[in-house]
Amino acid sequence: MLYKKFIEFYEKIQGTSKRLDKTYILSKLLKTTEDEDIERVTLLVQGRVFPACDQREIGVAAKMIIKAISNATGYSSNSIENYWRKLGDLGKVAEELTEKKKQSKLFSKELSVRKVFDNLQKLAGVEGKSSVDIKIRIISELLSNASPKEALYIVRTVLSELRVGIGEGTLRDAIVWAFFPKVVGIFVKCPHCKNWVPNSNKCPECGSDLNTNFNDAVKEADGRILRVKEVEEIKNKEIKDYDFIICPDEKTAREVYNYIVNCVQDAYNILTDFALVSVEAKKGILSLKKVTLKPGRPVKVMLAIKVKTLKEGFSTVGKPAQLEYKYDGFRVHIHKWKNHVKVFTRRLEDVTHQFPDIVKAAENINADSFIVDGEAVGYDKRTGKSLPFQRISQRIKRKYDIDRMVNDLPVEVNLFDILFYNGESTLNKPLRERREILERIVKEKKGVIVLSTKLVTSSEKDARNFFNESISHSNEGIMFKNLNAPYKPGARVGYMVKYKQIMETLDLVIVGAEWGEGKRAKWLSSFYVACRDDNENILRIGKVASGLKEKREEGLSYDEVTEMLKPLIIKQQGRYVEVEPKIIVEVAYEEIQKSPEYESGFALRFPRIIRLRDDKPLDEISELNHIRELYENQRNRKTKDN
Ligand code: ATP
Repeated sequence: MLYKKFIEFYEKIQGTSKRLDKTYILSKLLKTTEDEDIERVTLLVQGRVFPACDQREIGVAAKMIIKAISNATGYSSNSIENYWRKLGDLGKVAEELTEKKKQSKLFSKELSVRKVFDNLQKLAGVEGKSSVDIKIRIISELLSNASPKEALYIVRTVLSELRVGIGEGTLRDAIVWAFFPKVVGIFVKCPHCKNWVPNSNKCPECGSDLNTNFNDAVKEADGRILRVKEVEEIKNKEIKDYDFIICPDEKTAREVYNYIVNCVQDAYNILTDFALVSVEAKKGILSLKKVTLKPGRPVKVMLAIKVKTLKEGFSTVGKPAQLEYKYDGFRVHIHKWKNHVKVFTRRLEDVTHQFPDIVKAAENINADSFIVDGEAVGYDKRTGKSLPFQRISQRIKRKYDIDRMVNDLPVEVNLFDILFYNGESTLNKPLRERREILERIVKEKKGVIVLSTKLVTSSEKDARNFFNESISHSNEGIMFKNLNAPYKPGARVGYMVKYKQIMETLDLVIVGAEWGEGKRAKWLSSFYVACRDDNENILRIGKVASGLKEKREEGLSYDEVTEMLKPLIIKQQGRYVEVEPKIIVEVAYEEIQKSPEYESGFALRFPRIIRLRDDKPLDEISELNHIRELYENQRNRKTKDN
């Protein structure tokens, strides 16, 4: 594929804020991509040349880009810096100067996606003395052959500054729409442009109103048709060679469509790389269903549902249930294969380097290969007491002085699950069996690696006692787990639930901030925070100015948060700055109120920041629906109290 064609699609995606339109355009891009480019295109649309779980970085500084633009356009570094100051964006500088190019090249080749992508990937592998020169040469070569638009996108990709806003859900749906038959009813034929498009108010292709009912859509389907009476019929069937799937009614059509979406989502939760998912999806749904774990490649963690009562805990997971202490640390997956051990966080970050103590702890697990799941909890060496997550969270980001950190802030790994054992996935074994394997292969060592404390019971009274016992050990509460359930990566399906007894807090992302006044003038001191809706939109819910400390020793400080936000500033206007939504904080509040002031429609009364949630990915921040629910509950409570 020509790079310029890729950019055309890319610009269209960028040009719309509607998720449906983005998904539709993206699915067309994936559909027109040749097999050999599918991995590259899937990564490039995310602004990446490596999947999120790959630690390699392009590693190119702005200075190198300036030199490369200079080589490619003939402008001096000084004048490029002047343009940069004026335009505020090196991508735009590259675009403008390529347009004005002084040295007209005689033979410029058209750039392909392959050439751009492979060269950018090469940048990460360049090391050694002359690495700067080599990197500049690689980028110069690309820029010399680039059109102005291409130059803009190349520079932004190199600097990881592409902000297209394609979330996981959009990419997943685009893969479904691109590679699988259209489920009639979910897709309809537009009466105006005659394209098959997702059924919504407006046709994403021509913009005209869509008003097609299910039966009319069925009449229009023409081509290779698979008729399906119920969703069970396609569970072990290859469907990729059909153009349409026709079901007897809308409800079944929805079930069939959801089944396909879930197959793609499940594969992603295991592979955690959409480029690999695209490749498998192109081969067919049976290939997708066969994807499996591979130690060394991170996998999503299984998530918990929250319950309000012990009774609800039992009714969700069934009786008897396995109860466990709910530790206040951070989630880790430890992988072992051959002589390698790797440690991943729930955000799929590789933190092996930061946790040599966890790597060593894994020696107490007796197996040739495994992926185990647990919570790493910091403790005070003198008293042996657990420390709150905030105290050890600094170890996750720390790149130097590791030995001192290991010594000052030791962690104990509390294992509670196993996903892979001696060459085979254990995802589909029931929890009961997975726990048995763990108990057999882990040699417990206090302060290093232990199994989570558990109790199998059907009694609410026992559960209450177990909860109190857990709290008295400085834990947050208890977990309830379904003994017969498999392990579902990435899913919140009710196989495990959490029961805590503290006020619900929100995990919100900082999207803006204001510089302080007086003695706080050097810090950003109030923060606009946002939640998300189920369409991946980030919506403001309030401004929080308390909770942070003036000194680092006292806890999360203004100065630390300011340092984190500075590189993320996108725009500045007087004292206000807008920042990229990357820093997630846990926010407590007195009450949720309705408010027209923020896009979410809600505001928080007396909000305060409790801690950083640097273990949480952006797509797991608090959802608007959940906030609405909290708001309603709060109102019910008030009416009862009055
Ligand atoms: P969520 O994970 O549901 O989005 P959250 O990040 O705020 O919410 P919690 O509400 O604290 O997390 O509950 C789930 C987390 O509890 C797990 O991700 C895990 O890190 C932690 N945890 C502690 N003890 C256990 C245990 N015994 N079994 C499973 N998870 C545990």
